Amino acid sequence: MFDYQAPQQLLQERIILVTGAGDGIGRAAAFSFAAKGATVILLGRTLSKLEDTYDAIETAGYPQPAIYPLNLESAAQAEYAGLAQILGREFGQLHGLLHNAALLGQRTPLGNYDPAMWNQVMQVNVNASFMLTQELLPLLTIPVDASVLFTSSGVGRVGKAYWGAYGVSKFATEGLAQILAQELEKTSNIRVNVINPGATQTRMRVKAYPGEDPCCNPAAADIMPLYLYLMGPDSIGTNGQSLDAQ
Ligand code: NDP
Repeated sequence: MFDYQAPQQLLQERIILVTGAGDGIGRAAAFSFAAKGATVILLGRTLSKLEDTYDAIETAGYPQPAIYPLNLESAAQAEYAGLAQILGREFGQLHGLLHNAALLGQRTPLGNYDPAMWNQVMQVNVNASFMLTQELLPLLTIPVDASVLFTSSGVGRVGKAYWGAYGVSKFATEGLAQILAQELEKTSNIRVNVINPGATQTRMRVKAYPGEDPCCNPAAADIMPLYLYLMGPDSIGTNGQSLDAQ
């Protein structure tokens, strides 16, 4: 596991948006960021799940989060622009953005891959991250430092059979992050990095590996040290890296 002990007030006064905050790793990240003092914007497609994350944060006594339901598969540029406008009005700036939401799609040979599913996966895993980042960049340039995190996978670094659009989308994510990191390096206060969570007990993992015993993988809460490190100011100067949470 990545070795980092986050100070208690690491993210105090910071505003951080997490996509896919209603389940799995996104939920754990939102909770961990709030536990370190952040005001977290919980973005996702299933309102009831976002409300569960909200309740967990509120019950724990952490800063009151905000909920922003959005379906990344159907959202158009104007909806991302609308989100940026609301965040600008409510918070005035953004210190962190975690691109975590993703679709697994099919696990099948490319020869059989359903083109409609291919487009869905690319829309959620790549295009949405691009559009959301583009609209939120102005708010991310306001604080003294800001962190954008993308989520990759082992299958986004080495091509593996049957991972289809998901694997391709993670390669694209690595590329998107590298390009953005270089573009912003000398011209902004924003650092851009990628996290590969590694095998983690979530709904997606069970879907991808139905025969695996889930007990052998860490829980989402266990892999948070790297998320906290990269989101907080201790990682200032780290840019354009793709790091393993485990
Ligand atoms: P989960 O399936 O548990 O969670 C994915 C989240 O993404 C859910 O909250 C889901 O919302 C949200 N989401 C999916 N589609 C949309 C959409 N169209 N609009 C808005 N939100 C959407 O996955 P994990 O927590 O396991 O995965 C988190 C990240 O980590 C992903 O990027 C994944 O690729 C990556 N990863 C995970 C690994 C693992 O072992 N778990 C290993 C390597 C990488 P809803 O709950 O409403 O469906």
